[in-house]
Amino acid sequence: MDFNINNLVRDNIQRMAPYSSARHEFTGEATVFVDANENAFGSPVQGTDASMYNRYPDPSQWQVKEKISQIKGVPAQNIFLGNGSDEAIDLLFRIFCEPALDNIIICPPTYGMYEVCADINNVLVKKVNLQPDFQLDVQGIADAIDENTKLIFICSPNNPTGNSINRNDIEILLNNFDGLVVVDEAYINFSRQKSFIAELTEYPNLVVLQTLSKAWGLAGLRLGMAFAGTDIINYFNKVKYPYNIGEHTQQLVLQALHKVEQVNEWTRTTVEEKEKLSKQLSGLAVVTRVYPSDANFILAQMTEADKIFKYLVQQGIIVRNRSSVILCDNCLRITIGTPEENNTIINALAAYA
Ligand SMILES: *Cc1c(COP(=O)(O)O)cnc(C)c1O
Repeated sequence: MDFNINNLVRDNIQRMAPYSSARHEFTGEATVFVDANENAFGSPVQGTDASMYNRYPDPSQWQVKEKISQIKGVPAQNIFLGNGSDEAIDLLFRIFCEPALDNIIICPPTYGMYEVCADINNVLVKKVNLQPDFQLDVQGIADAIDENTKLIFICSPNNPTGNSINRNDIEILLNNFDGLVVVDEAYINFSRQKSFIAELTEYPNLVVLQTLSKAWGLAGLRLGMAFAGTDIINYFNKVKYPYNIGEHTQQLVLQALHKVEQVNEWTRTTVEEKEKLSKQLSGLAVVTRVYPSDANFILAQMTEADKIFKYLVQQGIIVRNRSSVILCDNCLRITIGTPEENNTIINALAAYA
C-alpha cells in the first residue's frame, strides 16, 4: 500500500483558499461583537433566551466534539460533524472525486445515498454485489479497482440486509487499497462487532461514519459524524459550509450526549425485541426466511412481499419494501418498534390470509 493523501484530493480542493468566517479571524476575549452583521438586539424565537440565536454558532463545534471525543475515545481533531452523515458522504465525493473522471465502488444491496451522491457529483459507480450470504466479494472488488478508484463504501452492519461485514475482509481492503475505505457504522450500537474507530491509528486510509439518527434517537436534529486522520478531517473542514451545524442542534446534542445510560437501555431493549420478533416472524406462514441482524431492523423474505406490503399499509403499518432490490427478492425490511408496535405487526401478519 502506498497511501498519500495528496494523490487522492482533487487539485482544485488542494489549491483553493477556504472561506474565512468573522469568528475565525478573532481569538481571545471581547464584549462588543460587531464583526458578523448579526442582529445585536436578539432573536424573535419564542420560549427561549432572546439572545440565544442571533449569533452565528461555533463553526468548529468544539464543545460537541469534546463530548463526543470522551464518549468515543477519539481526539476531537479526528472528528468531523455534519448535517447527518449524509453530509459527510457528499463531502467525500466533493473532496476526493473528480467528476466524469474518478469512480467509487459500492457493494449492493446497500445504503442508497452512496449512489445518489455519486450521481449528483457525476462520479462513476462500480457495483460489486455482495455474495448470497451478504458478505463482500473481495476478489471482485480487487478486480474492479483501477487507478481512478477513490472510495470504497462498506456499510457494516449493512442496510438493508442487517448483517455485519466480516472484519478480515475489510482489513484486506484497508491493507491493499490506496484510496479511502469508508466504513459506514450507522447501526454499530446494535452490533456484536466492535467499531473500526479503534483502527484509525492503524490505517491512514480509513474513514468511519456514525450518526446520532439511529440508536441515539436524534434523527430529527441531523447530526452525523466522520472519524478519520487529521489530514482527511482538515479537508472536510476546508470544504464544509462554515456554519453547517446550527446553534440549536449543538445545544440539544450537548444535552443529549449526557444520556448515554438511557441510550444504552433503549439499545438493549431493541436488541431483545429484535430476537423476539425474529423468532415470531420465523413461525409465520407468510414468512419464508428471516435473515440474522446486527442492526435495529430485520430483513424478512415473504411469500408475496408486494401484496403483504400493501396489506400492511391498509392496516396502518408501514414497513420498507425492498423486494425490487438485488438479492432481496420478496423481502421486507422491518424496523424494531416498541413492544406494542412489534405485537401489532406480528398480529397483522398472522391474520394475513
Ligand atoms: C440511516 C443511515 C445513515 C444515517 O444518515 P443520517 O444522515 O446521519 O441521518 C447513514 N448510513 C446508513 C447506512 C444508514 O442506514
